[in-house]
Amino acid sequence: MTLADPTPSTAGFAASTASPRLFEKLSPVTGASLGQFPIADSEAVDAAVARARAAFPGWRDTPLAVRLEALNRGRQVLLEHADDYARKIAADTGKPIFEALMFEIAVVPLFLDHYLKRAPKVLARRKVSTPLAMAGKAGYIEHFPRGVVGIIAPWNFPFQLAVLPVISALIGGNTVVLKPSEVTPIAGEVVADFFRRLGLPPGVVEVVGGDGSTGAALTRANVDMLFFTGSVATGRKVAAAAAERPIPCELELGGKDVFIVCADANLERAAEAAVYGSMGNCGQACVSVERAMVVDSVHDRFIELVKRKLEKIKVGGPDENADMGPMTFAKQLQTVERHVESARQAGAKVLTGGQRLARAGLFYPPTLLTDIRPDMDIYREETFGPVLPVIRVRDEEEAIRLANASEFGLVGSVWTQDLEKGLRIASRLESGQVMVNDVYSSVGHPGLPFGGVRSSGIGRYHGDEGLLSFMNVKAILVDRGKADYDPIWYPYNNKLASAFEVFRGVAGKKLGSVIRGFLGLRKASIDGHDGK
Ligand code: NAD
Repeated sequence: MTLADPTPSTAGFAASTASPRLFEKLSPVTGASLGQFPIADSEAVDAAVARARAAFPGWRDTPLAVRLEALNRGRQVLLEHADDYARKIAADTGKPIFEALMFEIAVVPLFLDHYLKRAPKVLARRKVSTPLAMAGKAGYIEHFPRGVVGIIAPWNFPFQLAVLPVISALIGGNTVVLKPSEVTPIAGEVVADFFRRLGLPPGVVEVVGGDGSTGAALTRANVDMLFFTGSVATGRKVAAAAAERPIPCELELGGKDVFIVCADANLERAAEAAVYGSMGNCGQACVSVERAMVVDSVHDRFIELVKRKLEKIKVGGPDENADMGPMTFAKQLQTVERHVESARQAGAKVLTGGQRLARAGLFYPPTLLTDIRPDMDIYREETFGPVLPVIRVRDEEEAIRLANASEFGLVGSVWTQDLEKGLRIASRLESGQVMVNDVYSSVGHPGLPFGGVRSSGIGRYHGDEGLLSFMNVKAILVDRGKADYDPIWYPYNNKLASAFEVFRGVAGKKLGSVIRGFLGLRKASIDGHDGK
């Protein structure tokens, strides 16, 4: 079976009424309007879900190899459109075109490669071992799709964080209704364009543009699972809506990611990484370094190196050949200003940056703060901006204790030249991902599951777990069906002694007892039926 040749399908922005409500998108670079976009209302959302539901049986029953082949067309679409897509995403978010290409688009073929290889193994039926006490039976595990999955995406990586979960859900045979963020509606259209060009059957991917009201409508619609990436506050609402039904719900939420610098770290590399890890994507990443904890003996040298490197970062719009763009979202810039200002008033030192740039757009410079204490907002709450707060710690033990005493647990990193020690510390951090001597890269590794603990979220995507998240698990037990009676079925009379024999054999690990007891049960069963 093959799918039709790629012809644009109906996937696209759905707005139900002839004149939907509109919202305006402003450029984060210039502040000028980039256009008006429709807000899909609950009627439009329900209609999109109905189309996805109608498409579900056909897509579910399409062989996995054919589904994979259809999704693999994405490789060619990206080869042809990467330049256009990257420029649009950059204009929408303000990020450098380099980042739009590398962190949004280039990761997609990387994950496709991985899933083309792994999905047939991960999704195949597998046999599990069966205990002797259940001799004659076999156990299997297989997976089947959840159905229609509602996916709600954020604005910080608006292409990657929409496309990867959608692809993962589609591989398993689900159909999807996607709600991109209203902060980045142009990138939302790029995502819709990408899926349209795959030529999937109508209804397999539906994209509904709009704001929080559209997202809320999707959480109330007739979907079988919700996959949400965004803030903790909205994540709570999504989880509450899922609990009402109840349907499964996966949450990929915020972080306050730690960066632990040990005394034996390669300080040059650690400083370079702290700068990159806190300023990449203008600090608007759930994998951003949000708390650097530096051991006292190397603290001052580390700060010196970091400050020098931060001051070399070129800030500007996508057309200015810059390293770092503006912030994407005005509200997020206000959070950054509030955190930096309140830390300053509480005694933190601002070694560089610390004030919005005097130009149009949402530009905030690379900012380095020291003398950070746990009672400050910037220590506890996610900042999500180009700010590196540094905490001086006595030793690694203090860093581990502080790292784990957090509401969040998404990503962490450890910097040491002793790799065994690095792994030991990694094991002790209560976090979904930990890197040793690296930043950012674990989220780009397609074989590694991604997700958080505590308020950082529930569930995992990426890796094998990322496919299984979108699947229901089915246990299958098969008996050969030859015997007329199963030894533990009725009647029970005359079986108690043999049952104890089986129990003592299983609990005491005595094979002879299990066999004797089992034969006794069998005989009692046959006698019991013959006697009738
Ligand atoms: P947000 O919660 O404001 O919005 C996320 C999405 O939810 C948007 O599409 C929005 O329209 C929608 N939404 C708003 N109200 C809703 C409601 N009541 N019901 C359903 N949907 C609703 O988050 P954001 O500002 O777009 O994203 C930033 C946050 O996302 C940060 O906290 C960041 O750490 C987190 N994030 C997490 C990951 C991860 O993988 N763990 C990745 C990226 C971003």
